[in-house]
Amino acid sequence: MSQHLMNTYARQPVTFVKGEGVWLYDAQGNRYLDALAGVAVNGLGHAHPRLVAAISEQAGKLIHVSNIYQIAEQAALADKVCEIAGMDRVFFCNSGCEANEAAIKLARLHGHNNGIENPEIIVMDRAFHGRTLATLSATGNRKTQAGFEPLVSGFVRVPFDDLDAVRQVAEHNPNVVAILVEPVQGEGGINVPRDGKAYLEGLRALCDQYGWLLMLDEVQSGIGRTGTWFAFQHTDIKPDVMTLAKGLGSGVPIGACVARGAASDVFTYGKHGSTFGGNPLATAAGLATLNIIEQDGLCAHAEEIGNWICDALRAEFAGVKGVSTIRNAGLMIGIELDRPCGELVKQALEQRLLINVTAEKVVRLLPPLVINQDEAQQLVSQLSGLIKAFLGQ
Ligand SMILES: *Cc1c(COP(=O)(O)O)cnc(C)c1O
Repeated sequence: MSQHLMNTYARQPVTFVKGEGVWLYDAQGNRYLDALAGVAVNGLGHAHPRLVAAISEQAGKLIHVSNIYQIAEQAALADKVCEIAGMDRVFFCNSGCEANEAAIKLARLHGHNNGIENPEIIVMDRAFHGRTLATLSATGNRKTQAGFEPLVSGFVRVPFDDLDAVRQVAEHNPNVVAILVEPVQGEGGINVPRDGKAYLEGLRALCDQYGWLLMLDEVQSGIGRTGTWFAFQHTDIKPDVMTLAKGLGSGVPIGACVARGAASDVFTYGKHGSTFGGNPLATAAGLATLNIIEQDGLCAHAEEIGNWICDALRAEFAGVKGVSTIRNAGLMIGIELDRPCGELVKQALEQRLLINVTAEKVVRLLPPLVINQDEAQQLVSQLSGLIKAFLGQ
């Protein structure tokens, strides 16, 4: 490997040269089952023919023009996102952290517009919102923050899935302007609220009572992964702001800050911008991604196959000591062990299975939404064998 790359990643010793569906191939022609999908990016799997055609066609016409001109693909994607989300306006950027930066700026501006000079945003323990200064400050993991102090101020932290903690902040802190929360925490360990519907509805009620914005980070949970377009659609509420990235462009970098109602008019001319954000190539990829997910019914499929995988894993691990819990929201799947298990990533790679471990003890699976029954069966068999061996059972 090149000595000219900064050491920001502990890279596995493998280079992929092509992919097809849930499979990746190395230069020797070995085939790997991809249960990570570029960390929830490749929802359509690799080299999806209709996506490749849409991107190729767009690249041959127009890759980039500045946002100082009208961009038809961007307008079409904004319309589509608002239609499926029931939201009003979109700001396009290039990544999840940028989408959250936009949301944080929007919330602060909303506060200032309402006479709050030092606006604060409620964020959660174990949250992950990105690596820029504001988003790492919002993130609830000391490892992400250490060494980068002084952090950006203006965040109040409470435990995840704890409405009372939010209520207490509400009673004592008049500077709060918004809540930023992942409906299902991804990097934090696939943390699913005990009653996700009650939790989000409770947060919505508090936001309504205190005039706060409910801002959902759906960078990982969005774009069909949990069984609905967006995780909040398992409830009856809507957020004021929602952030997207990962699965939206199927690997062509794109992020979006989506807003509704009064929140969608907070940013006015000159308040925010992005050189690349929403360019023709990225938004054509986004539009093709959403159309394919819709045409192929991949949201419903993600829920069904995700639940099937979890049931099969539970059956495999019945009576196995060391597996603490198996939890999922569609195809966001976490298997929590009673011990750190980072080594499993390498052991799985040796068996040509691509998985991830997060929060030290949680095996995380984020397979492409297109994974079929046979592939899911192979994933369950291989992974349960690996985990049992790792646990010495
Ligand atoms: C990955 C992720 C981010 C950061 O996205 P980047 O594109 O890496 O900046 C933010 N929030 C959540 C929930 C994520 O999973």
